[in-house]
Order: sequence, then C-alpha cells, then structure tokens
Amino acid sequence: MLNEDVKKILISQEEITDRCKQLAKQISDDYSGKVPVIIGLLKGSIPFMAELIKYLSIECELEFMAVSSYSGTESMGDVRILKDLDRSIKDCDVIIVEDIVDTGKTLQKVKELLYSKGANSVKVVSLLDKPSRRIIDISAEYIGFEIPDEFVIGFGLDFNQKYRNLPYVGVLKEELYKE
Ligand code: 5GP
Repeated sequence: MLNEDVKKILISQEEITDRCKQLAKQISDDYSGKVPVIIGLLKGSIPFMAELIKYLSIECELEFMAVSSYSGTESMGDVRILKDLDRSIKDCDVIIVEDIVDTGKTLQKVKELLYSKGANSVKVVSLLDKPSRRIIDISAEYIGFEIPDEFVIGFGLDFNQKYRNLPYVGVLKEELYKE
C-alpha cells in the first residue's frame, strides 16, 4: 500500500484545497482584465495546477514545459529543457506553476528562458517552498506552504517517479531512500 511508505502527512488534502482557493483569489485579483498564460512544469505541478485553476475567476490559457534537474532525492545541479513550449509567448503575462522551489536553479533557468522568448511578465506560483535549501536568490510570488528541509512526496511530487498520485504532501520513510 502506498500510504504505508509515508512517515507522516505534512499537508492534508483539505489544507491544500483551502490554500489553492486563497491563491486563486489573489491571482485573479492581480491579473484582473488580463489573460495570463499559465505554464505548468511537468510532471510535478499537475495536481496543484489542476486544483488551482478550478478557482480562478479570470480567463487564462494553459501550457506545459518539462525540465529536469533531479535524480532520486538529490539535485543534479544542471537544468535541462526536456519539452519546450510549442507556441509564442511574446508580450504575454506568464505564470509558472511549480511543485516546489528548492535550490531555485530550475526557476532561474525557466524564468530566463521565458523572458528571452519575449514574455511581458513572468511570475511564479509554487505549492511548496523550501527556503533553507536555496542556492539562487529567487522566490515565487505566490507560495502555498513553506516547509522544512525534508524530502517530501505526494500531490505531484515523486520519488523515482512514484507517489505523485498521493492526495496529500507527506514525508517518505527514510529507509526507502537511504542506504
Ligand atoms: P530546484 O531547481 O529549485 O532545486 O528544484 C526544483 C525541483 O526539484 C522541483 O520541481 C522538484 O521536482 C524537485 N524537488 C526539490 N525538493 C524536492 C522534494 O522534497 N521532494 C521531491 N519529490 N522533489 C523535490
């Protein structure tokens, strides 16, 4: 059973839904009269993006990109674009949806790329923030929850591609990834 691999639940499904409603209200107010292009970073942002957009009261367009930097539980440092956008975002107001901001390398790279493509503005909404691990001085404009330096899984976040379908954010049992 998937649940048996979880040491503890950090953020419940209900808490995530409540926070998504608040963030969506804030984003709808900030982007009133605009039609932002919301770009989900595959695959981790999918459950969060799906929940968040349900509560937006503004028009928006959805796009996806895939970048990679992680293998197992540690960052590889190098960020690669695995799937680029297949449309122009010139002069668009872009909102990146991310699962977690950790070292900040992914966001820095993606923001740079989107500005180089001519975006008018680029902001970030992230379900989680782990500020204690930051290497690059960057932060998301909209943050769901700040968490301590623990490896988390669920609600989009994986360990070796598994656990993304858990409906909450939890901490994985250490014996499952530490030798
Ligand atoms: P950054 O470039 O900010 O170091 O890393 C961002 C990416 O690292 C996230 O999109 C996520 O895929 C991965 N990541 C960072 N911390 C965690 C974590 O605690 N759990 C999981 N599952 N992935 C993480």
